[in-house]
Amino acid sequence: MTTTIGSTVLGYPRIGPHRELKRALESYWAGRSSEAELRDVARTLRTNTWRELSDAGLDSVPSNTFSYYDQVLDTAVTFGAVPRRYTDLGANALDTYFAMARGNDSVPPLEMTKWFDTNYHYLVPEIGPDTSFALTDRTPIEQYREAAALGVTTRPVLVGPVTFLLLAKPDGSAPATFRPLDRLGDLLACYAELLRELHHAGAEWVQLDEPAFTADRSPAEKERLGHAYRVLGDLTERPKVFVPTYFGDAGESLHTLATAPIEAVGVDLVAGPVSPDRLPGITGLRDKTLVAGLVDGRNIWRTDLDSALCTAATLLGVAGNVAVSTSCSLLHVPYDAEAETSIDPQVKSWLAFAKQKVDEVVTLGRALSEGREAVGAELNASREAIADRGASERLRNERVRSRVDTLRPGDYRRSECATRRPAQQHALRLPPLPTTTIGSFPQTADVRKARAALRNGTIDRTSYHQRMVDEIQRVIALQEEIGLDVLVHGEPERNDMVQYFSEHMEGFVSTDNGWVQSYGSRCVRPPILFGDVARPRSITTEWAKIAQSLTDKPVKGMLTGPVTILAWSFVRDDQPLEDTAAQVALAIRDEVVDLEATGIRVIQVDEPALRELLPLRAEQQRDYLRWAVDAFRLATSGVAERTQIHTHLCYSEFGEVIDAIVALDADVTSIEAARSRMEVLDDLNAVGFGRGVGPGVYDIHSPRVPQTDEVEKLLRAALESMPAERLWVNPDCGLKTRGYAEVDSALRSMVAAAAQVRGSL
Ligand code: GLN
Ligand code: ZN
Repeated sequence: MTTTIGSTVLGYPRIGPHRELKRALESYWAGRSSEAELRDVARTLRTNTWRELSDAGLDSVPSNTFSYYDQVLDTAVTFGAVPRRYTDLGANALDTYFAMARGNDSVPPLEMTKWFDTNYHYLVPEIGPDTSFALTDRTPIEQYREAAALGVTTRPVLVGPVTFLLLAKPDGSAPATFRPLDRLGDLLACYAELLRELHHAGAEWVQLDEPAFTADRSPAEKERLGHAYRVLGDLTERPKVFVPTYFGDAGESLHTLATAPIEAVGVDLVAGPVSPDRLPGITGLRDKTLVAGLVDGRNIWRTDLDSALCTAATLLGVAGNVAVSTSCSLLHVPYDAEAETSIDPQVKSWLAFAKQKVDEVVTLGRALSEGREAVGAELNASREAIADRGASERLRNERVRSRVDTLRPGDYRRSECATRRPAQQHALRLPPLPTTTIGSFPQTADVRKARAALRNGTIDRTSYHQRMVDEIQRVIALQEEIGLDVLVHGEPERNDMVQYFSEHMEGFVSTDNGWVQSYGSRCVRPPILFGDVARPRSITTEWAKIAQSLTDKPVKGMLTGPVTILAWSFVRDDQPLEDTAAQVALAIRDEVVDLEATGIRVIQVDEPALRELLPLRAEQQRDYLRWAVDAFRLATSGVAERTQIHTHLCYSEFGEVIDAIVALDADVTSIEAARSRMEVLDDLNAVGFGRGVGPGVYDIHSPRVPQTDEVEKLLRAALESMPAERLWVNPDCGLKTRGYAEVDSALRSMVAAAAQVRGSL
């Protein structure tokens, strides 16, 4: 048995190398397979992961990183934080768990939100003064035993108690002054019990994640972190405690953890390069293990092992023991780069997915413990790949670079929005409260089949093209019949709003199997942006032209914005994100200009991920928002006054980004608002927005069809804070995931409501 950690990873993907868990879950939910079958798939995935990590040579292997849905939900269930409405269902444990995750006919699910600044989503626990914490589910202990039975000694991983409570929200019964963190004492008693049981089961280490401390925290919250780990550290019957922080620099909290009576502290040296000069000042590390997160857990590039070893060397004098790890859990990267068969071989040689990252960690660990010579071949191979990537001509497109270098302030500016409005009104002649949609129409099984057939070669380009034209025709005819004012082509040709564009631009590659869990069974396959980005020819004009030829109403051109393209791709790490954003923005700008030239008068540039990339620390947010706004403006400022620019944002709580939304200077902004009852309009007024707004009048995330009078009420509420000439009427997001029957009735309700309200203006 190891007495300390030498090399490890903070967590591992769990959806399965071929998305086995996704299939098993969806089949169970659909009633096509039994609980036993689902549990069987899960056990096999866990077994394979433990064996793989242990065989690769990690000397500390994590467990309890498997989840049927989400690790935050698992933690809530472990400690009995299950709201009454779910226990009242009287269902078995697994179905109660899935009711919390997904809802069912009688209860809505827990709220879901983004896990820090990643594209992973967790379920928000609800905690109140009466939540009765108790160690009710012993999965962490059972999985420790399950691995031990296979001969693998593991380190159970849980969300730490302070981060757990900081991520929770007060439940409905809580008084206004209540904070979930008020319940820390009670929750710690349950963590203590779990630690005691793990100790008796034989666990030598436990990992309690506290990523919440890489974001800004109040002094009181930081004090609670110290308190928690003094309490847990002072327990006599417990495994050794390892607390990693990740997604940034934990700042002072690192000091707090270093002085707590625990055995190991983890730092993310990729996202938050803690200056090694600062570490010697962190007293308390001398008798601890410092787990150095040297291998990027969130991106897919091979690690520069030489430079990682240099960083490690500077830490050696600081801590009692230096261990090597990933910067965060590998949940955020795909399984295996070797399994990719169609990526260009040179680009592929620069990549490391989860499996390769484990090998990198092992190599670094051995270099530290046995000396560099022991891993000379591995270090050489890494050096060659890094050098090959660094020197590759394929990263550079001089034309794009000189375009970026010669940008001028005017390239980011349009005329005043107040003078654009009459020019646009003259060109478009829209009625007050114009109705429109966010872009996509239902992606029917037929459309997806046609795309698969094109990929497999069972149909050719011409017949695929014809299928899409037929679909566009049908979508335009439907919108005309329903009576919408600004039409869309429906986006049938797009597999995904980012991947579609990346496939038509230089500087990107797509993967075959690079799936990453987004939430539950839902996975995404982010494109890889490896080099300078260019758009060799126009991407969307052909479709827009066809759509516009079918109607006299304006057809809105539909593009994905530069920030969203970055947020939903794996990006190059060899230049500032800001520079990459400018290149992508220029590509989109060319597209915007081309659309205008083909006669498209309204162009929407979607930025649903604008808030997603917002740095966790306030001091870094300004700089981010500056370049993010610049990228959008660069993309959209190449057109005449009379061309109307729209944007779409998938959220309504603007918070820190509200000024940035104004600065985007889009003529019309559509936002999610149906669930928040139009309150967002007051927020926008408070900052003098003064442009068109389309607050979503119904929630497309639910199959429910809104009635005309509901929509009418919302519109009248909106008119309380917004003049009619600036109010647009639209759903709150794209219709891609819905069925035609619902979409048809919902849009009719919406159009009827707009007509009613118009009549009484
Ligand atoms: N135009 C996209 C659509 O309608 C926008 C999607 C989004 O907001 N995520 O699907
Ligand atoms: Zn949206």
